[in-house]
Amino acid sequence: MEKSRAIRVLSPEVVNKISAGEVVERPASVVKELVENALDAGAGRIEIQVEEGGRRLVRIVDDGCGMGAGDLELVFAAHATSKLGAVEDLEQIATLGFRGEALASIGAVSQASILSRTAQAEQGYAVHNRGGEIVPPRAAGAAPGTEVAIRNLFFNTPARAKFLRTVRTELGHIEDLVTRFCLAFPEVGFRLVHDGCEVLQTPPGEDRRTRLESLYGRELSAALIPVSAAAPGARLEGFLAGPAVTRSHARDMLFFLNGRHIRDRILLRVVRDAYRDVLHHGRYPVVFLFMDVDPSAVDVNVHPTKAEVRWRDPKLLHMLVAPALRRALVQADLAQPVETGEHAERVRGAVESYLGGAGAGYEYGRRYGQGHGHVGEGQAELTQAGAPRVFQVHDSYLVCEVPDGIAIVDQHALHERVQYDRILRKLTEGGVVAQRLLVAEEMEVSASDLGLLEEGADLLRRCGFEWSVFGERSIALEATPAAVVREQAPDVLRDLLGLLRARGGNTGEIDGRTLFHEVAGTMACKAAVRFGDRLNREEAQALLEESGALERAFVCPHGRPTVLHLSFAELEKRFGRR
Ligand code: ADP
Ligand code: MG
Repeated sequence: MEKSRAIRVLSPEVVNKISAGEVVERPASVVKELVENALDAGAGRIEIQVEEGGRRLVRIVDDGCGMGAGDLELVFAAHATSKLGAVEDLEQIATLGFRGEALASIGAVSQASILSRTAQAEQGYAVHNRGGEIVPPRAAGAAPGTEVAIRNLFFNTPARAKFLRTVRTELGHIEDLVTRFCLAFPEVGFRLVHDGCEVLQTPPGEDRRTRLESLYGRELSAALIPVSAAAPGARLEGFLAGPAVTRSHARDMLFFLNGRHIRDRILLRVVRDAYRDVLHHGRYPVVFLFMDVDPSAVDVNVHPTKAEVRWRDPKLLHMLVAPALRRALVQADLAQPVETGEHAERVRGAVESYLGGAGAGYEYGRRYGQGHGHVGEGQAELTQAGAPRVFQVHDSYLVCEVPDGIAIVDQHALHERVQYDRILRKLTEGGVVAQRLLVAEEMEVSASDLGLLEEGADLLRRCGFEWSVFGERSIALEATPAAVVREQAPDVLRDLLGLLRARGGNTGEIDGRTLFHEVAGTMACKAAVRFGDRLNREEAQALLEESGALERAFVCPHGRPTVLHLSFAELEKRFGRR
């Protein structure tokens, strides 16, 4: 339990430095301030009772350090806090509260009572505040800890009461808020009760994963992959779900900084970047990130409810968070074969029922092998998820037999995705495979291109390009990326120079990763077969095999699907067979 520190009124000098603001907007704001106080008091259990969406009553009971009679004298005074003394402390804020204005503002617009007792005291004390009229502390029986009851919020400010929404909406805000506290403080037990019914309950002493499971259920929790990273003065921990679990809203993308839920544009961008190649447009990932940084690395004193922060060094996020998310996503991708296993089971089941118990390997081989299956061979193909029959139509789509129906593949989109993954991997491993040209290819460039070629030389070499400068306006291309046909190599190089130009030539470590993604995207598009390219059967089959596209849903780097499935059930429905 925290040791109680005395409450003092802040000096005007400090008051002027803190960003004041309206903290009480709706019942959820009251809950937020009171729960933060309980957490700052070192509570291990916090109970939140609300009535009528919090409008009639918000009561918070905690087992924290409590307050003595002296503190209760000052508790409703403006700018009275035990958490901040001097201006310098503002640089080192480690508590959730520090402005000392919450209880004063809440007390001014409600009927508030506080009953509190420290562990050492023999008895507790109660104070009341009726819309600003304060009744001084009086002795009262109490358990150690604090109970704050806020009744009839906005009773004396009807204009503000009008802005309150329905009970459901207000309760929704409170529920979201308490859920976030539960995530940020898994070691604390929370209970939320509305009009006598328990809405949410988590036991104390949980770890993050168990807490996530208590809140979101086993299914989501099982799909979550841990994320972690550390740098001097900063630590990141968290969980994310791979692209198989997405949402139509951003509510399950939650960021916490030093125990505080924050909204942060930079973090949001870093997360979006990480998922860019694997999510469809309009879908949102599930990501819970918890960062702990040295309090001096951020300024939490920029927003009235502290929901936004200012990073003293935003590069920290790119260096710490972006690579950690990438790693976790790769892991999520590797975790896929588990699903493939289930998929294979389902396929086997579907095939068996389709064959109506005929069940012979021969039949299966006939249908899904190359059309010349022998007994036994088909089975082997099935268990290997075999080489399905495939046709190319209009030199653009591949139509394939799959065990539960037909798959139609967009050949360009799929190949682009395959190339993208390969190029990205090579880039991060050191470089893509280059091909020396027997005869160097001359390429005209502008003066500014020459500058970019020099600045971006390292990156461009990784991309498989080698050249020598040749006169003032041209270069001789000596090697080009092997994946790109020679005629297209100058175009690819120009695109890459375009990327470098857009970044002001910045190829530094910080956004090297993002740059790799852009580069891979540019190169993959050029390296992929096009719509209209004729593929022979071996090429088509190699593409399907390499991508594994028939076993798992892939999206192209632009977020479009690469494969459509038409199941037998769907076909039968369309043909009116059932
Ligand atoms: P702040 O949290 O910014 O200091 P508040 O107005 O929220 O300001 O609270 C004023 C002071 O009252 C706190 O600094 C703290 O000392 C005391 N206090 C409030 N709630 C509690 C609680 N639940 N347990 C112990 N002390 C509390
Ligand atoms: Mg507070």
